[in-house]
Amino acid sequence: MIIKTNILNPVSQQKAEFIPEVFISISRGKISSISKATLSHDFIDHSDLICIPGFIDTHVHLSQFYIRGSHSPTLLHWLNTYTFIEEFRSKEPDFARKVAQDFFRDSIKKGTTTSVIYTAPLKQACDIAFEVAQNLGVRAVIGKTMMDSGCPDFLKENTNTSFKESVELFEKWNKKTDLLEYVFSPRFALTSSAELMQLIGDFAKANDAFIQTHLSENHEEIKTTLQLFPDCESYTAIYRKYNLLGPKTILGHVLHVDDNEIDILRETKSKVAHCPDSNFFLKSGMFPLKRLQEAGIDLALASDVAGGTSLSMLNVMKMCSFRQNDYVVSPQEAFYYATLGGAKVLGKEDIIGSIEEGKDADLVFIKNPDQNKYNCSELLSKLIYVNEEVEIISAMVAGRKMF
Ligand SMILES: [Zn+2]
Repeated sequence: MIIKTNILNPVSQQKAEFIPEVFISISRGKISSISKATLSHDFIDHSDLICIPGFIDTHVHLSQFYIRGSHSPTLLHWLNTYTFIEEFRSKEPDFARKVAQDFFRDSIKKGTTTSVIYTAPLKQACDIAFEVAQNLGVRAVIGKTMMDSGCPDFLKENTNTSFKESVELFEKWNKKTDLLEYVFSPRFALTSSAELMQLIGDFAKANDAFIQTHLSENHEEIKTTLQLFPDCESYTAIYRKYNLLGPKTILGHVLHVDDNEIDILRETKSKVAHCPDSNFFLKSGMFPLKRLQEAGIDLALASDVAGGTSLSMLNVMKMCSFRQNDYVVSPQEAFYYATLGGAKVLGKEDIIGSIEEGKDADLVFIKNPDQNKYNCSELLSKLIYVNEEVEIISAMVAGRKMF
């Protein structure tokens, strides 16, 4: 397959590039060449569109998809009022299937080709999410949320069962196809026993598996967590103690961390998912973007639906910029965190995140707001700040057209 189009590509945190009028050749799901000319007359003409790499959402809760926009004053109130009850609905297989289908369809329509997902703490619901992802052909890292304490009885798991079921899901689905991986997903320290965290940490490390959890989102959450683990000097130290940190660990939020905690994140090479829409919806606080960036910590953007209100990564990019008080986020930087930066967080920067020869063809085509009028920076700026006018025409994952 050869497509004639215009490429808008992330290069680095500071740089993006616009390459007009090129031919992208795709073979066996990968970009085999990008050239200014082709000898073939048989190509798809998308020269009226702009091609960008598919977005990567590094932290999102599939089973909460229907409760987007349920207003609540704080995180813990929101969890108890809406979230736990909603996640329990996925106990019904028909419901779990429908929410997974609706989630992935909306996600891909908004240009996201890779998602890092928590499902409800129900084995079957997670299994169904994998089945749906496989059938649709999307790229996803999925895990069953784990909770064995500090939560309502109807969702509380037995420690050993929670671990055993997660291992079974890992063995069934991790790398079952090139597009699917498993992630061990203890919700956070507040709903995880020390024993559960240790089991997860040790197993994931021994098996080179992903781990995801939430860290330091809300002041009330932090205070309660530290009371539960009085021997740990900080929230981050709890996760270090139970072997949860490392290069394959993605921590959501990371808002109220001190310098010692940032040092731990750097030493362990842990990754951070920044969820600006969620942080301001739940009044959790402002992300220390500049401090984490200066510490050299790999970070990327995430919707955190349903704490976040939309799966649109264009919206998340806008929020990333709007919600820094002093630090100026350039359009190039926001774009990087939604694409190549996300790939780096996943250790997949050689496979996805930008449009380059040899990478998988995870491509999104958008209507051109008039490339002749804008330079690369202005074009990106339009896409991010006037994102309600962006028309996403089609998307493909590993060369397969999704819509
Ligand atoms: Zn979350």
